[in-house]
Amino acid sequence: MKKVNGHEIIALFEKWSPKRFAMDGDPVGLHIGQLNRTVENVLVTLDVNEEVIDEAIRKGANLIIAHHPPIFRPLKSLLTDTPQGSMIEKCIKNDIAVYAAHTNLDVAPGGVNDMLAEKLGLVDTKIVESTHSESLYKLVVFSPATHADDIRQTLEKAGAGAIGDYVGCSFSASGIGRFTPVEGAEPFIGEMGKSEAVEEERIEVVVPGPIRSKVLKAMLEVHPYEEPAYDLVVLDQQSTDYGLGRVGKLLEKTTLGQFAELVKKAFDVPALRFVGDPNKQIRKVAVLGGDGNKYIGAAKRSGADVLVTGDLYYHVAHDAEAMGIAVIDPGHNIEKVMIEGVADYMQAACAQASYNVSFIESEIVTEPFTFI
Ligand SMILES: [Zn+2]
Repeated sequence: MKKVNGHEIIALFEKWSPKRFAMDGDPVGLHIGQLNRTVENVLVTLDVNEEVIDEAIRKGANLIIAHHPPIFRPLKSLLTDTPQGSMIEKCIKNDIAVYAAHTNLDVAPGGVNDMLAEKLGLVDTKIVESTHSESLYKLVVFSPATHADDIRQTLEKAGAGAIGDYVGCSFSASGIGRFTPVEGAEPFIGEMGKSEAVEEERIEVVVPGPIRSKVLKAMLEVHPYEEPAYDLVVLDQQSTDYGLGRVGKLLEKTTLGQFAELVKKAFDVPALRFVGDPNKQIRKVAVLGGDGNKYIGAAKRSGADVLVTGDLYYHVAHDAEAMGIAVIDPGHNIEKVMIEGVADYMQAACAQASYNVSFIESEIVTEPFTFI
């Protein structure tokens, strides 16, 4: 097991939940501190407040991964006698870094929305609102056999070669590369004016469009040749869609009233509100963590009988009624499912990478409401 710093942990996290998945203007990423220090314990939390920082200190965690960004609006001043300022001061004094993964974690396959859908027992899930689609590229690079492993590892590290639930996918074939260095060349192998034949490997990987420059740059940095030969081509196959919310089927039909009871249990909330006839038949369910007021129409278009989301507004409830879609509001705090979800995912990913780090689930309740 290898000691790691914050950068290495976050690099692994961002393979799953890259920042480019975030909605415009959502301040995801490192909020407080730095990632250069060695990290042995990471605390995972939905929200960051002073109690959570105290918990991190108690449990020896110097990195916090949070869902809700602690600095949502830009600060004009940093006064340490305000609640937010005092919280930031405590982080800095105790060398605690805070990293936020918000809408990028909602969008990520296996992220918050998938975690919520799984809790509700939804099957055959699809995205409610597509936020962006990514085309796929194929990179073919020719490497001397001696450097092929280095290049494959670099490509994987840069994010190439991910297909579905598999990472590090590549294909390699051996062959002979031929070239003749001419005036001006400074060849890694070979002599001026003399034809060379070198044992090479042809390495092929897929590359998501948005990271192709980064992958190319990383490959060129480790490739030993002065003029590496490679092809980068866009693939004429369906691009991958990413987005917010998930819609899926329940294994058994139920009524809205019964389903509301199920939601209460699944998310461990003491009470909830819903809009719609309790006797309405429910089969197809949409779920969107956080504030889903803007997505009632998208949920209706997805064919859902009911949308489960937090922070429902009074007038939006009227709109939903008029549209004929039921809505269940179990509160924003249901996103706490990400605490266990992220801790489990990252613990497994770090174990696989032989990283010596533990993920701790925050036990601080950040539900601000009391239900009576
Ligand atoms: Zn939220």
